[in-house]
Amino acid sequence: MRKIGIVGAGQAGLQLGLGLLQDGYEVVLVSNQTADQIARGRVTSSQCMFDRALANERALGIDFWQDAPPVEGIQFALVQDGTTALRWSSRLDKPARSVDQRVKMPRWMDEFERAGGELRILDAGLDDLEALHRECDLVIVASGKGEIGKLFQRDGERSPFDKPQRALALTYVHGMKPRAPHSAVNFNLVPGIGEYFVFPALTLSGPCEIMVFEGLPGGPMDRWGDVRTPQEHLAESLRILRQYVPAEYERAKDVVLTDDLGVLSGRFPPTVRKPILTLPSGALALGMGDSVCLNDPITGQGANNASHCAALYRDAIVEHGDRPVDGAFLQATFEHYSAFASI
Ligand SMILES: Cc1cc2nc3c(=O)[nH]c(=O)nc-3n(C[C@H](O)[C@H](O)[C@H](O)COP(=O)(O)OP(=O)(O)OC[C@H]3O[C@@H](n4cnc5c(N)ncnc54)[C@H](O)[C@@H]3O)c2cc1C
Repeated sequence: MRKIGIVGAGQAGLQLGLGLLQDGYEVVLVSNQTADQIARGRVTSSQCMFDRALANERALGIDFWQDAPPVEGIQFALVQDGTTALRWSSRLDKPARSVDQRVKMPRWMDEFERAGGELRILDAGLDDLEALHRECDLVIVASGKGEIGKLFQRDGERSPFDKPQRALALTYVHGMKPRAPHSAVNFNLVPGIGEYFVFPALTLSGPCEIMVFEGLPGGPMDRWGDVRTPQEHLAESLRILRQYVPAEYERAKDVVLTDDLGVLSGRFPPTVRKPILTLPSGALALGMGDSVCLNDPITGQGANNASHCAALYRDAIVEHGDRPVDGAFLQATFEHYSAFASI
C-alpha cells in the first residue's frame, strides 16, 4: 500500500491522514467543506478529549493548542427538585481539553497540505469512492454523520436503538463564573428530565464554556424546536438551568453567546454499521469514526474514539506493508478498534 484515499476531514480522517503522511504514504483527503467554511460555520461538537486521546495528537506533533483551558476534573451531581441529592468530584490524573472543531480542523487541513497531502474539496458520492479506489490502494470513509456513511449497512446486532435517545443542544458562552477550586466537566443528572454538563474550552474568540444539554425526547429539556434565534437558544438554555439545575444557573446567569453560530440542537439514534462497504465494482472501502460507530454524546466519547480509531488504523496499515488489501485485512483492522471501543 502506498496511496491512501480518505473521505472526511474530521478528527478521524485528518488525524489518520496526518499520521500516514509522516509514515511516507501518499494521502488524498476529500472534504465537502473548505477550511474557511468550517472556520466560519456552526459548532459541531463539545469535543472534550481526555489525555489518552490527546497523547495521540502529541505523538504526531499536531497538538497546537496547549493554551486551551485545561479541564482538570470531573464532577457528578444528581439533582432532584432543584436540590443536589448526591455529588462527588475528583481531579483527573492529567487534564482533558476541548478545542472547537472550527479552530482545530482548519489548522489541521493547512498542516495536511503543508506536509504534502492532497486535499480535494468535493461532496463525495458512490462514483467518487469508485474513482478514489481506482487511484488508491485503500479507501477509508470517515464522513461522520454525513449521508455517504449510510451506504454502510446498519449492524442490527450492535445497534440496540433505532430512535434518538436524547434531544441534544450546545451553547458556547463567555462570562461563566469559574468552578472552584478547579475546572471540571460538571455533569448533572436530572432524573426523568435529562442531563446537563458544562466545561471550559477554546473557541474562535478564546476561552469559553460549553453547555451541553441531553434532554429526554418530548420532555421539558426538549423544547429546542420552538427556538428561532441564537438569543432564544441562550434564553432556553438559561430557563432549563434556572428550573432544573439552579446551582449551575448561579454560575451561568450572566453569560453571553460566543457567536451566533455557537449554538446547535439536534438528535440522532446511536448506530453501529458494518465496517466494510462493497462498491458496485466489487472494490471495498473501510469505515472509521462516527461513520460506522455513532454514539450519543452523553458518553463524551466520539472524538476520543475517533482519535483512537485513527491511531489503530494507522498502525494496522503500516504493519500490513505491501501485502494485498482484502476483506480479511479490513475486518481485522476494524476489530482492533471495536475491541478498544467495546462495540
Ligand atoms: C452535541 C455533541 C457533543 C459532542 N461532545 C463530545 C465530547 O465532549 N467529547 C467527545 O469525545 N465527542 C463528542 N462528540 C462527538 C464527536 O464530535 C464526534 O464523535 C467526532 O467529531 C467524530 O469524528 P469523525 O472524524 O468520525 O466525524 P466528523 O467530525 O463528523 O467529521 C466528518 C467530516 O466528513 C465530512 N463529510 C461528510 N460527508 C462527506 C462527503 N460525502 N464527502 C466529503 N466529506 C464529507 C464532514 O463535513 C466532516 O467534516 C459530540 C457530538 C455532538 C453532536
